[in-house]
Amino acid sequence: MEILGKQTLFAEGVRGSCSEDLMARFNLREGKDPQTYGLGIKEVWRIPAEKCRPGYIQHTFGWPLPTDVYGGSFLYHMEPDLVLVGFAVGLDYANPYLSPYQEFQQWKHHPLVRAHLEGGECIQYGARCINEGGFQSVPKLTFPGGALLGCSAGFLNVPKIKGTHTAMKSGMVAADAIYQALTSETPMNVVRPAKKPEGADEKAGLEVVGYQKDMENSWVWEELKSVRNYHPSFKAGLLPGIMYSGLSAFVLRGKEPWTFRNHKKDCEKTKPAAECTPITYPKPDGKLSFDLLTNLARSGTNHEGDQPAHLRIKPGKEHVPTDVSYKIYAGPEGRFCPARVYEYPEGENGKLVINAQNCVHCKCCSIKTPEEYIKWTVPEAGGGGPA
Ligand SMILES: Cc1cc2nc3c(=O)[nH]c(=O)nc-3n(C[C@H](O)[C@H](O)[C@H](O)COP(=O)(O)OP(=O)(O)OC[C@H]3O[C@@H](n4cnc5c(N)ncnc54)[C@H](O)[C@@H]3O)c2cc1C
Ligand code: SF4
Repeated sequence: MEILGKQTLFAEGVRGSCSEDLMARFNLREGKDPQTYGLGIKEVWRIPAEKCRPGYIQHTFGWPLPTDVYGGSFLYHMEPDLVLVGFAVGLDYANPYLSPYQEFQQWKHHPLVRAHLEGGECIQYGARCINEGGFQSVPKLTFPGGALLGCSAGFLNVPKIKGTHTAMKSGMVAADAIYQALTSETPMNVVRPAKKPEGADEKAGLEVVGYQKDMENSWVWEELKSVRNYHPSFKAGLLPGIMYSGLSAFVLRGKEPWTFRNHKKDCEKTKPAAECTPITYPKPDGKLSFDLLTNLARSGTNHEGDQPAHLRIKPGKEHVPTDVSYKIYAGPEGRFCPARVYEYPEGENGKLVINAQNCVHCKCCSIKTPEEYIKWTVPEAGGGGPA
């Protein structure tokens, strides 16, 4: 594809497919920690209007997750009669038998959650990954002719699960820096390309490094830096993580002179099934909790049958589903995918079936499959979910 713009800004959100290719092509991750992720699964409920308290917010941490898994929930009341509930699970979990979807369903049965939903009806379902690597995982932001913005660059405040404000700020900072570069006769803070195609505009292919500098001097950098040690501190377990985060937030105020680092991708944190205990989840009751296919029907996902596959096994990794994922890890994609896209039918010796039409575009499979064997690309026309 030929891109003619003098500058192209990539704001594809978390795990953007073009952004990931750009990071690899321009080596933007050099010296940074790998990006890590969480999977957020969400439902929208309509409840009796008299029960609705618009503005009400409830956040929880942990339960029903095992104590070595990072994650928690949100519950928001919204006008006129809606409740939004969701559960996010850190994808650095080790046990391949864990199912983020089933953890979410179980969570709704807690008395402090069910009280909000009883008498209501679930009307929507969806899922989306979030960045969890934080400050340590933000890549270099610029490259010749473009830059990364928002969640494509990983600007998420991890403990708050908030990234709208930082995404908007990055767009504003990039716009200012690029406007200066493209309109000034003597642009500052740019790197000119070593060579340009013949006849190309004088300003084509500039690398606007001013955007990087301006972001580093903005409140976004300060905010992300101040919370950089929260998630990594949970590596030591739930209680030590909570204690450290409290200390960092209220005493050290994020100014501690050390930074916890992580050198492994989420898929490398999964342990072989033989080292883990299978998890049996309670059956859904059909009122508060639902089987996955019932919820999938509420997602609005829809793909034309004749479009090119948007989920592909990467070249050279064709053996991974059967030889690695199924045999060593007991097929974790059958449990973490919140749309039951991946199946290893019984009696077929680990032959993988990909039901791509079910996909709700959370991008989890491009992150958590062993060796990241899935290449995720944007489906035609959006297909009913975010890309
Ligand atoms: C469950 C959950 C709860 C959250 N709660 C909050 C919250 O309460 N407050 C908050 O501030 N943040 C919250 N966030 C985070 C917030 O959603 C993101 O930080 C924010 O949306 C990032 O904005 P963005 O513009 O970078 O990306 P996005 O909002 O993800 O937008 C990217 C857009 O680009 C499209 N796209 C992707 N690739 C392509 C392509 N190749 N071509 C064309 N289009 C493409 C996508 O479909 C999408 O519409 C939450 C996230 C999740 C998953
Ligand atoms: S196939 Fe991948 S992107 Fe689609 S819903 Fe499943 S895990 Fe998410």
